[in-house]
Amino acid sequence: MHIEVRNVNKAFGAHQAVRDVSFTIERGKLIGLLGPSGGGKSTLLRILAGLETPDSGDIFIDGKRVNDVKPQLRGIGFVFQNYALFKHMTVFDNIAFGLTIRKASKAEIRSRVNELLDLTGLRGFEHRYPHQLSGGQRQRVAFARALAPKPELLLLDEPFAAIDAKVRKELRTWLKSLIAELGITSIFVTHDQDEAVEVADEMLIVQQGRLEQQDSPIRIYTDPQTAFVAGFIGHSSVVEEPGSLRGFEKAVQAAGARAIVRPEFVEVGRTYEIPFPSAAVTGKIRHVFFRGAHLELDVEVGPNRLSAHRSLDQEPLQPGDEVAVLIHRLYVISEESATMVENPLKADPLPVHI
Ligand code: ADP
Ligand code: MG
Repeated sequence: MHIEVRNVNKAFGAHQAVRDVSFTIERGKLIGLLGPSGGGKSTLLRILAGLETPDSGDIFIDGKRVNDVKPQLRGIGFVFQNYALFKHMTVFDNIAFGLTIRKASKAEIRSRVNELLDLTGLRGFEHRYPHQLSGGQRQRVAFARALAPKPELLLLDEPFAAIDAKVRKELRTWLKSLIAELGITSIFVTHDQDEAVEVADEMLIVQQGRLEQQDSPIRIYTDPQTAFVAGFIGHSSVVEEPGSLRGFEKAVQAAGARAIVRPEFVEVGRTYEIPFPSAAVTGKIRHVFFRGAHLELDVEVGPNRLSAHRSLDQEPLQPGDEVAVLIHRLYVISEESATMVENPLKADPLPVHI
């Protein structure tokens, strides 16, 4: 199914929840709709599904304007965050629900439900009630139920938000391969960037009702188009005075410009560990956090605080240690754009000890 959203607006009272949003989605793509809570993700999804009416703008499905088409006639399956299974119905009856209300024959229902029980690994659970299932199993029932009427578009609104981290990771891998196998166009809402990056073919970043960027996960990460995207993706530190960082003075001439530095743009260590020491600045370790596979360092550099990573194999650093800090690159951000700037001093061959 090919989707086009054109200049859609939606307000709730004085609050503009969706602002002039336009995008298209190609058939068969898995889209990650990512943004902070309250940004308008659910509202957008509900407008697509026909559960909410836009104030202005149009929705096209396969080229046909569907603004006035009832939700149940749009060919869309919806999976919500909070399972929303029917508590008093068995797994079988939950999955069959959409077919029953369409008055499918008993034989047809049985065959389709069996197919979905196999597809979702729920064979053997068909006579259980929702309270007899784990969170992950319940969410798989919700998928099966959404898929039963063979929708051409699957909308998933934070489907794993209520599930613990380990099961969630398994479920999203499972979901991605299932969706690829079915070839069904899908939009997956999440506020978790790792989840979106891992699952999506393409991402839509939404904030305060506005679409900030539509791109592949790699391009969202390497080429953020707006200041918001640059700061939102990649556990960034905001540098309020980037002009005070050696090498970047010229790039940051615009008064008041800020910069964004990601941990992987920064190398922190003893001077002898750092390549291009002449391009490094001096910093002081403020905190060291153990993050399992690596250490996260909170480093003070002049008036700025940066976050950096360090391997557990390297010599340990302690709070209070003076260190060399090499900033390989940063994003200079202005009101509406983000520009990547490489550290120009990295080419300098003369070692300077600090
Ligand atoms: P998200 O899913 O990104 O967290 P939502 O689309 O749910 O965001 O909400 C966007 C904004 O619109 C929020 O400020 C929310 O409070 C508001 N909103 C959503 N639905 C309604 C509603 N039915 N009535 C009033 N305000 C709403
Ligand atoms: Mg939501």
